[in-house]
Amino acid sequence: MSEGPPKAGKSTRAVHSGEREHRDSSAVTTPIHLTSTFWFPDSREVIDYNEGRLKREEYGRYGNPTWKAVERKLSDLEGGEESVLFASGMCAATTTFLALLPQGSHLIVTDDCYRRTRQFIRQYLSRMGVETTVIEPADPAKLEAAIRDDTALFFTESPTNPFLRVIDVPEVVEIAHHRGVKVVIDSTFATPVNHRPLEEGADLVLHSATKYLGGHNDLLAGTISGPSEIVKPIRDAVGVLGGVIDSHAAWLLLRGLKTLSLRMQRHNENGLEVARWLEAHPKVARVWYPGLASHPDHETATRRMQGFAGVVTFEIETDFDGAVRFIDATRLFYQAPSFGGVETLIELPVTMSYWDVPREERLAMGITDSLVRLACGIEDAGDLIAELERALAAV
Ligand SMILES: *Cc1c(COP(=O)(O)O)cnc(C)c1O
Repeated sequence: MSEGPPKAGKSTRAVHSGEREHRDSSAVTTPIHLTSTFWFPDSREVIDYNEGRLKREEYGRYGNPTWKAVERKLSDLEGGEESVLFASGMCAATTTFLALLPQGSHLIVTDDCYRRTRQFIRQYLSRMGVETTVIEPADPAKLEAAIRDDTALFFTESPTNPFLRVIDVPEVVEIAHHRGVKVVIDSTFATPVNHRPLEEGADLVLHSATKYLGGHNDLLAGTISGPSEIVKPIRDAVGVLGGVIDSHAAWLLLRGLKTLSLRMQRHNENGLEVARWLEAHPKVARVWYPGLASHPDHETATRRMQGFAGVVTFEIETDFDGAVRFIDATRLFYQAPSFGGVETLIELPVTMSYWDVPREERLAMGITDSLVRLACGIEDAGDLIAELERALAAV
């Protein structure tokens, strides 16, 4: 059974999908296949494999039964025909760009975009003559205006980081497909529990599985899912570029995925409760959370998503020193980059990923001195709020 039972719920699929195809033992859990290569009993089998008559593994860079189980589970959760695992989210993004962008083509991305993705576009894709236009998220008119005859891809996160802007996927898909442009959604902040972009017409969905899919702050991985026809050249590219996942990490991801739906339910509840509490606090100037009516994309988010996850971005009514006093007063939260694990993480974007961005440029992106990104884990909401209350008193 590679898919969950027909009409099964998200939790049932998260537990069962993908796992029952290993027949060599009766283990309930999929084994970790620690091997770099796979042997053939005779030359006939080698030839049958080469000619596509036999489906099996060959060499560790092209496939491993442990990662195949993860890929099947993901395909079922995302509603995609096929998925590919990578060593990291960045590897998923860079391999996808290299596989799908012809030399000298045009790419459109949104501005509130993962910093290293932007860096890859600037430093590396430009060498292939790929030109890039950056547009504001959630403005379909800007997308329409940016499309050229040589545009190959529109790539965006949804929700974006750190302001959690939400893309109306069917709307952008209609505009992009009309002009022959493929739509790739980085759905890391949503997960297939909260949003399924493939069902809304997106061509590919990408994840940093390091975040919610893995869910325990213990691994790095990336994934893409979509129709086999689009996924195939990307799978072939991994075999050449070599950014494959280790089978230990793949197994941890398989284990993490089984509780995805349960964990997301708690992340969704904690995010909403904490966002509401922060919005009512006199020392908090502004909160960005798609589940709040004050968020610019609240209407799109409630129409398209089933929950808004655990990341809450907010600005404290203070200066840089006050923000540092606040964050250093927190004890329960880990001050660390990343999000999506069971432990709550907190960071000041200014001291973390934006430290080396010139001040004027950073402020133009909305990254002020007192902006905080809180990634709620699955602890009890009351404890998260008590911790925030204590730390805000130190501002
Ligand atoms: C973390 C992240 C990435 C990069 O993923 P890694 O697994 O850290 O390589 C890409 N996109 C988004 C939205 C992310 O949050």
